[in-house]
Amino acid sequence: MDAIRDQFPVLHQEIHGKPLIYLDNAATTQKPQAVIDTIREFYENDNANIHRGVHTLSARASERFEAARAQVARSLNAESEREIVFVRGVTEAINLLAHSISHDWQAGDEIILSELEHHANIVPWVMLKERKGIEIKVIPVDDNGELEIGALPGLLTKRTRLLAINHVSNALGTINPVARITEIARERGVPVLVDGAQGLPHGPVDVEALGCDFYACSSHKVFGPSGVGALYARGDWFERMPPFLGGGDMIEEVRFDGIRYAPPPSKFEAGTPNIEGAIGFAAALSWLNSLDWLAIERHEAALLARMTDGLGSIPGLRIIGTAAHKVPVVSFLIDGAHPHDIGTLLDSMGIAIRTGHHCAMPLMQRFSAVSGTARASAAFYNTTDEIDQFVAAVSRVRDMLV
Ligand SMILES: *Cc1c(COP(=O)(O)O)cnc(C)c1O
Repeated sequence: MDAIRDQFPVLHQEIHGKPLIYLDNAATTQKPQAVIDTIREFYENDNANIHRGVHTLSARASERFEAARAQVARSLNAESEREIVFVRGVTEAINLLAHSISHDWQAGDEIILSELEHHANIVPWVMLKERKGIEIKVIPVDDNGELEIGALPGLLTKRTRLLAINHVSNALGTINPVARITEIARERGVPVLVDGAQGLPHGPVDVEALGCDFYACSSHKVFGPSGVGALYARGDWFERMPPFLGGGDMIEEVRFDGIRYAPPPSKFEAGTPNIEGAIGFAAALSWLNSLDWLAIERHEAALLARMTDGLGSIPGLRIIGTAAHKVPVVSFLIDGAHPHDIGTLLDSMGIAIRTGHHCAMPLMQRFSAVSGTARASAAFYNTTDEIDQFVAAVSRVRDMLV
């Protein structure tokens, strides 16, 4: 683990005179040298626009961009790279899907979400509800922060067009039983979208094993650059759906009285994409492939146990989200202390955490956390020593505020 940590230059610095302890990985992750080098090296050697030029640099850039797509397909265990569209991230992926999959939906058609969704998997659907009059049904969350799967069969009807669900909760750390959920939905012929923003950073993802029709991910949450991500769509979904954005690169023929679109994935990639981003994203995925994931899972479980036990022993501190299966993300409240003040004081001690609603307002309401929570989210490069220092710092913060 020390060798892995050494590959992240940003972690080796002081903040306010204290060694940085970065525990805001659910917001964004830091980048290993392999990713930084790949992007720099692309700029230094191969930068050009793609899919257009007859010249050598453009051919090289196009080749690298398509190789990046193949890497994403391999990392998700997709059957074909034609099932992968590059987008800005999970937010754009879900907006694309909400726009395109709904082209033949009618007022009264239904979708199912859950109470622990990120706003990226709520807002596009509420916008669609306002545009088309669809109905939104919600799988509730229990007191531990686990989905009440037993409620799902009762929510599925003849009019359910899609089930859209988080893989791993960014706010509570809950790992959802996605394979079980997709099985129930698919028995009823309902396609499933998985918001995978927090899935990929904590272990290999296999869309076959999950059984989902769509999987959305963001590069910056998996140790890659910002502003790029991918939407996986099984089989011929991308052929059947109309495009989202229009412009260059996504067409075969343009006339003022009609357009012939390019086949997918190009059909969904209008304009110049984030070329270096896609290549950096693929570099991150390929670097992740080289890691020992069994060792990482053990390490992350140890980080979670240490955080949970340590924080749990602080008087007046309540952990929100105590699911049986979690990634090392811990949301908490301290009686008599505002989450924002906890975060500010921790920053003065060199510790970066997140405070607020974590883009999951309905979930915060579910737990009556009106001001949101304080959230520490670890990645595999965090150490047990850092967790101990973090717990000690929270204890000091409590004494200062309460
Ligand atoms: C971060 C996040 C998103 C949004 O991803 P962007 O990269 O900001 O588009 C969606 N869902 C979850 C669970 C997230 O953690």
